[in-house]
Amino acid sequence: MTDQYTFDNPVTRYSKDIPSQQHQSEPGLETELTPTPDLGESTYRGTGRLTGRRALITGGDSGIGAAVAIAFAREGADVAVSYLPEEEPDARRIVALIEEAGRTAVALPADLTTAEACRAVVADAVDKLGGLDIIVNNAGKQIYVEKLEDLTDEQFDQTLKTNVYAMFWLTKAALPHLGAGSSIINTTSIQAYAPSAILVDYATTKASINTFTKALSQQLAERGIRVNAVAPGPIWTALQVSDGQPQDALDEFGQMTPLGRAGQPAELAPAYVFLASAESSYVVGETLNVNGGMPTP
Ligand code: NAD
Ligand code: MG
Repeated sequence: MTDQYTFDNPVTRYSKDIPSQQHQSEPGLETELTPTPDLGESTYRGTGRLTGRRALITGGDSGIGAAVAIAFAREGADVAVSYLPEEEPDARRIVALIEEAGRTAVALPADLTTAEACRAVVADAVDKLGGLDIIVNNAGKQIYVEKLEDLTDEQFDQTLKTNVYAMFWLTKAALPHLGAGSSIINTTSIQAYAPSAILVDYATTKASINTFTKALSQQLAERGIRVNAVAPGPIWTALQVSDGQPQDALDEFGQMTPLGRAGQPAELAPAYVFLASAESSYVVGETLNVNGGMPTP
């Protein structure tokens, strides 16, 4: 593959083989995954679609958020990435790639499970980028639990705080800074439509994110601010090896999709670029599914 525009067979574009013999404690480090996920480091080619835009991406240290950060920078945007303090090694790598693209990178380590932290992250991003045009609410927590009786109150609370409350707090804090032409993009999931038995709390948050996106899009459209979502299917990231899935399910991760393999973060980035750019000026309240072919409502 030369770049994201190269025509090859999507079935074989990436290997379907993922070794199950790997486990990390939450949130996991991307650099320790086998195989290393493709973030588009050597393939994403920008064409100036986000020239001069200023973006905040949560969970921008790794996985989907990192692929989006690299793509946004190569499209001409300055990018602030938020991440958990223990993810500093992953974040450093992405900051360097943003800077290599000739753009400003802002690193914002913070746990987003409190309103204060979310407000501080937005304030820092606005301060260091000189404003804000794009916010990508992408940070997420996914821990599988087989039985509801074993789903602790603490986990339920933390999953909702990370996936839903943080999106609300961040968006509310960002809104006064977003002008007409700005874009809010939320990361939802196939789990919003086809929930797994072992991801009750997580799937609940992803359905909430879909509805939050649609409702807020109705409110903000008249201000020229577009709100949309991207719904990934099974994507190879650190989330999956840090108890997002049972370890013995990793072998077959993604193989139930019509394409027969897991997706790579690099395959998600173009959807976010589209929704952030002016090309999608008439796209509002939409959920773009990037899931290897699984039908959704
Ligand atoms: P990832 O682990 O690389 O990214 C998730 C990021 O969330 C972490 O890097 C971390 O920085 C951030 N995060 C988690 N808890 C946080 C907290 N308390 N405070 C601040 N940041 C926190 O994995 P990913 O798969 O790229 O996940 C990105 C998004 O994609 C998530 O919202 C996830 O739910 C969603 N998603 C992933 C898949 C998949 O199969 N990987 C499928 C559908 C949706
Ligand atoms: Mg990470």
